[in-house]
Amino acid sequence: MEKLIFFDAKPYEIEAFRPYAEQGEFDLRFVDARLTPDTAPLSAGADGVCVFVNDTVDAAVIDILQKNGVRALGLRCAGFNNVDLAHAYGRIHVTHVPAYSPYAVAEHAMALLLTSVRRIHKAYLRTRDSNFSLSGLVGFDLHGKTIGVVGTGRIGQAFISICRGFGMNVIAYDKYPKPDGDIDYVSLEELYRTSDIISFHCPLTEDTRHLFSRQTLPLLKRGVILINTSRGALVDSEALLTGIKDRIIGAACLDVYEEEGDIFFEDRSGHIIDDDTLARLISMPNVLLTSHQAFLTREALDAIAKTTMQNFRDLLRNGFSENELCYRCGRIDVCRREKRQRCF
Ligand code: NAD
Repeated sequence: MEKLIFFDAKPYEIEAFRPYAEQGEFDLRFVDARLTPDTAPLSAGADGVCVFVNDTVDAAVIDILQKNGVRALGLRCAGFNNVDLAHAYGRIHVTHVPAYSPYAVAEHAMALLLTSVRRIHKAYLRTRDSNFSLSGLVGFDLHGKTIGVVGTGRIGQAFISICRGFGMNVIAYDKYPKPDGDIDYVSLEELYRTSDIISFHCPLTEDTRHLFSRQTLPLLKRGVILINTSRGALVDSEALLTGIKDRIIGAACLDVYEEEGDIFFEDRSGHIIDDDTLARLISMPNVLLTSHQAFLTREALDAIAKTTMQNFRDLLRNGFSENELCYRCGRIDVCRREKRQRCF
């Protein structure tokens, strides 16, 4: 029976994978530690290794996994910016979960937006303290506002549907616009200039790193609201902080943070946060931060577990997986459709 080791396994994930462990089809082992060059030796004897967004899969880790005979690396997430795919090519096959519940992330983005705009987080704390004053809680209608969506893939499109339900005027930017849809595409610059709210839904690549930067600030409408549920490094955090301090950015709704790797997903209460930028952002009254939880619904966790296990089954037993990430073709989605075979 093939052995699979899950790094950085949290209780809610173990719960979702438990039925597969009980079926006895694979030998599943769960490890609390993140995958790093220091913990990679734990993969000895495993056929497959399963990782999440903040595990490190750099060249050093890949070499250790290969030396240990690991044949498949399964990401139990969609994004794969933490994997050195170029180094993995020819050494270890890598799969991801391209889609699980786009609604989970899109709905979380809207939850953050509504919470921020209607001050729900502040009202909740007030009424718990028997403070029923409404002063300082004035929000604004979403209806009729222009929202700019960057990235119109699965999550971006689910988010657009939600926004349309609210009567918002949706514009979008995508490097690869969908050819025959009803999405009103504009340039990124126009999106920055005309949006009342901006939401990021594109992957983190060399192209998109700091897509929102210091140069973006002069383009923005004063008071714009920024939502990032995609990957932290799409937004230059220092530029974001400057924009907030200069009163250009009216509010920020963040589920991801550039340097979240060593901080998110863990209980740090009682510890001092060494990251000054994060500490300053959290201290701002108009910043709402969740700890990369947009994916965290029962439906999404079950779908992630199902596809991850199918990916291991396909790669280790059937020879190839539709969800293999191919470094060479660049457009991974196109590759999957056209090749229908192993990447190497
Ligand atoms: P997707 O592949 O379906 O869509 C991504 C879209 O981004 C595509 O339309 C693509 O053409 C577009 N794109 C690519 N490069 C671009 C560029 N340079 N500029 C503008 N657009 C570009 O992916 P998805 O399922 O919609 O997920 C989007 C992202 O959301 C993922 O890459 C991941 O980083 C993030 N995500 C976050 C969470 C969370 O819990 N916070 C969960 C899942 C996914």
